Amino acid sequence: MAYQAEYIWIDGHKPTPMLRSKTKILADTVKTPPIWGFDGSSTEQATGESSDCMLKPVFWCKDPLRKGRNIIVLCEVYLAQTGDPHPTNTRAACAATAKKYAAHGMIFGIEQEYTFMRTDGRPYGFPAEGGEPGPQGPYYCGVGADRVMGRPVIEEHTVACIDAGLMIEGTNAEVMPGQWEFQIGAADALTVSDHLIVARWLLERIAEDHGIVVSLDAKPQKGDWNGAGAHTNFSTKAMRTGYGAIEAACEALGRKVTEHVSNYGHDIESRLTGKHETAPYNRFSFGVSNRGASVRIPWSVARDKKGYAEDRRPNANCDPYVVTRLITETVCSNEKTPAKAAASGGKKSGKKSGGKGKKKSKK
Ligand code: ADP
Ligand code: MN
Ligand code: MN
Ligand code: MN
Repeated sequence: MAYQAEYIWIDGHKPTPMLRSKTKILADTVKTPPIWGFDGSSTEQATGESSDCMLKPVFWCKDPLRKGRNIIVLCEVYLAQTGDPHPTNTRAACAATAKKYAAHGMIFGIEQEYTFMRTDGRPYGFPAEGGEPGPQGPYYCGVGADRVMGRPVIEEHTVACIDAGLMIEGTNAEVMPGQWEFQIGAADALTVSDHLIVARWLLERIAEDHGIVVSLDAKPQKGDWNGAGAHTNFSTKAMRTGYGAIEAACEALGRKVTEHVSNYGHDIESRLTGKHETAPYNRFSFGVSNRGASVRIPWSVARDKKGYAEDRRPNANCDPYVVTRLITETVCSNEKTPAKAAASGGKKSGKKSGGKGKKKSKK
């Protein structure tokens, strides 16, 4: 029997690209989703005269909504004329960087925060009749109808991600009412990013059935309300074996602040203000347990003297292919490759590291 393939791609919308998808019916005999195309002049990816763009399947999984043999097909966009990656195709560059630094064994876990909105543009966690809810405090990881809004969507989305085989790790209600998070990982740059894009699409698709809009805006509500981020946790093999490499990674990030922050998602200045568990976007800091730092080293990592670090700066609306590419480039180009480290006498920085870089925790 024929089955359905939902082809997903990232468009050319500015300042933040959006997800697009369309359905291809595949004959019973088709085992691998074929290359397809679309009208780029309707997605801000081409002009009317030369509008054909190519969809190249790069990752596919079970469609947990249509079920059966149906699939979801994530695609990269290519220029039909030349066969080159389309300028909006950030995955191709990410793939090249991941390959270049493969020996470092970099893996990522991304915490995707998002905010539910009503179709009239007001946050879903705000009273339908107008006005603002009580101040932040009771909502984070809350329970009860006065503290938590939108849970049915989260439940459906989580099951959908599991059924699709995505590497979803957990979910939680966030600090602003109607704001939530799920985590994907830990995996290499392409896997974590591919799974994140499909998980975002599933979220929007499921929320659509509930008449709820998903916003990935960095600061969906002005005022004393938390913004939405995509904390990006990362580790190389060296970081998973020694603390020196973790500090070195943080210091390397500190030397490239503008390059990172200017590519971590639109409107980052509104979110990284120094308030609401953020560090100012233009001042870099790192510290153990510090949720007011740009990069946080979890306390358990400081205790074990190995593990990972959390770049807290990426926005909810970031492009995960760009974020993971930049972190890979900055951290790995500053690190000896495992082969070189072994040749130069083995263990990376045998020093007992403890105090350096630590700051007092806020909470
Ligand atoms: P918090 O809310 O305390 O910042 P979460 O539990 O939401 O933390 O997310 C922790 C993230 O850290 C997960 O996405 C997980 O995959 C990631 N992570 C854990 N260990 C590693 C590691 N060694 N390398 C990269 N990421 C990691
Ligand atoms: Mn989290
Ligand atoms: Mn969070
Ligand atoms: Mn976090």
